[in-house]
Amino acid sequence: MDNDTFTLLLETVRRFVDERLIPAEDRVEEEDAVPAEIVTEMRDMGLFGLSIPEDYGGLGLSMSEEVQVVFELGRAAAAFRSTIGTTVGIGSQGIVIDGTEEQKREWLPKLAEGMISSFALTEPDAGSDAASIRTTAERDGDHYVLNGTKRYITNARKAAMLTVMARSERDIPGAGGVSAFIVPADSDGVSFGKPDRKMGQRGTVTSDVIFDNVRVPVANLIGGKPGMGLKTAFKVLDRGRIHLSAAASGMAQRLVAESVAYAAGRKQFGQPVATFQLVQGLIADSHTDAYAAWCMTRDVAARYDAGEKSSRDVAATKYFASEALGRCADRAVQIHGGAGYMAEYKVERFYRDVRLMRIYEGTSQIQQTIIARNLLRDAGLAL
Ligand SMILES: Cc1cc2nc3c(=O)[nH]c(=O)nc-3n(C[C@H](O)[C@H](O)[C@H](O)COP(=O)(O)OP(=O)(O)OC[C@H]3O[C@@H](n4cnc5c(N)ncnc54)[C@H](O)[C@@H]3O)c2cc1C
Repeated sequence: MDNDTFTLLLETVRRFVDERLIPAEDRVEEEDAVPAEIVTEMRDMGLFGLSIPEDYGGLGLSMSEEVQVVFELGRAAAAFRSTIGTTVGIGSQGIVIDGTEEQKREWLPKLAEGMISSFALTEPDAGSDAASIRTTAERDGDHYVLNGTKRYITNARKAAMLTVMARSERDIPGAGGVSAFIVPADSDGVSFGKPDRKMGQRGTVTSDVIFDNVRVPVANLIGGKPGMGLKTAFKVLDRGRIHLSAAASGMAQRLVAESVAYAAGRKQFGQPVATFQLVQGLIADSHTDAYAAWCMTRDVAARYDAGEKSSRDVAATKYFASEALGRCADRAVQIHGGAGYMAEYKVERFYRDVRLMRIYEGTSQIQQTIIARNLLRDAGLAL
């Protein structure tokens, strides 16, 4: 995308966030759903196709461009970004990165137009330890037959397509036995659990997905080669973590703005609380966290575009940005005093919503292990 067109897109998204999304936040919280008309507007703006190459009907943004759009969306309630999040990120990227040409031609244009997709890796007994997944994919002629249960799958109940990791190679334990499949959500034998009742992020839906003898054509094996599924999943997650860091940076910036506005308006001891240096310290610390998170995100995105796939620094960025965001949310509540604990003020919702960022797409502890493992391996230590 040329610079002028991208600048225009970014300005449009910024206006959309300020004029349409932020004013609709309370409605999303009350109804636990993103209004249908807003989803339509997101489709019309092409937001579902941000990361899909132009040849397949998407906007084909670079990672550096995508993080700027996602930063803007992050300034509004989490449910809005999450509406496009799985299609732009983990739901589609397995096909973009490792899919065959036929798979790209069949699925990417539909995803770019706004088809919702999900990424189904986690299971009841396999979260951080993704290589221990038990969902099976048994070869039967020109099909695989999938059986198993996936847990906490974002947008699954709204999705038309699922990227599913399943164990296709019985005799190969661990990561090497896993393949990734494209599964139409209306396939016979696919069913969904009840929507999970969550701490926050109302308006987003997660649920179990159950596969009961689901027949998937061999043509839907991502990349056409069995045993590559976790490699694909980890590439997708590396990219997804940059996307999430951008969302975290946008949320942090919003929390700083809410904190400044409240502190300037609220008076105690005859003066705005913003005049107290202890409150200024909280604001300054949050800005510093938000700024550092955003700098790391932009740096790692630019390096990703340049072909440098540094899992270590992607993990460091996701770790820092999500933890920094947690600190910003906590300080924002503190700056608001009692009002910060009340649902009427936005920061109470953010405080609950942001907690997830330190857990999904790899917990903070998993990011720490990735960072340390890479450093120790580079130092010649076999782990
Ligand atoms: C709202 C929500 C949406 C989600 N959406 C999706 C989705 O769309 N698709 C999907 O596939 N998954 C999804 N997940 C799952 C999410 O990615 C997992 O919850 C996450 O990876 C952690 O796995 P777990 O919950 O099994 O925790 P566990 O792996 O059981 O971890 C429990 C604790 O042990 C720690 N721990 C585990 N292993 C280690 C280790 N080696 N070293 C140090 N500490 C360790 C963890 O950090 C954590 O503190 C979602 C989860 C939530 C809550």
